[in-house]
Amino acid sequence: MTDVKFGTLEPIRYIAPDFDNTMVSYNVYGTILIEQDVDGAFKERIKSEVLSMIPIVFSEFNAREVKCLELPAMCSEMSNKLSERLREIGRKCNVNVGGVVMDDESKKIIEEKQRAKIIADNPAIAQVEQIRAMQAAGTVNRPKFCPNCGTPVGPTGKFCGNCGSPLGV
Ligand SMILES: [Zn+2]
Repeated sequence: MTDVKFGTLEPIRYIAPDFDNTMVSYNVYGTILIEQDVDGAFKERIKSEVLSMIPIVFSEFNAREVKCLELPAMCSEMSNKLSERLREIGRKCNVNVGGVVMDDESKKIIEEKQRAKIIADNPAIAQVEQIRAMQAAGTVNRPKFCPNCGTPVGPTGKFCGNCGSPLGV
């Protein structure tokens, strides 16, 4: 019995049906459980076979339009599919996918899209966001006088010219 750990060398691309078909990517890792004792060369071979099968399994999920946010919960289905494919080429082993993790860059893109969607679905939040943006730009609720020393302040400066107090709202 041999255990071989594997992890994708490059993130695997996925077209997210739940986010306007945005391209996202995932890293996949896990273990291959081989029934017999094998040498290093065989381990490498079987590892590369599994790695080459992962994009195929991903494309199957894509064909079914599996939501990108659901992929991380599909380790066991992915394990079964990979094990099945290995058996098809005569390998006596099982794959145990330990994790399907969205790439950091993709995570940022999806978070941004989720946020945009919440705002689009909720005009009240959009209004608050707009006010915040205006406040950040210094166009509303800006003090005309320094709250600390009372010196009149201009429309754009971030700090009082007299005492240096921040003028943020
Ligand atoms: Zn001041």
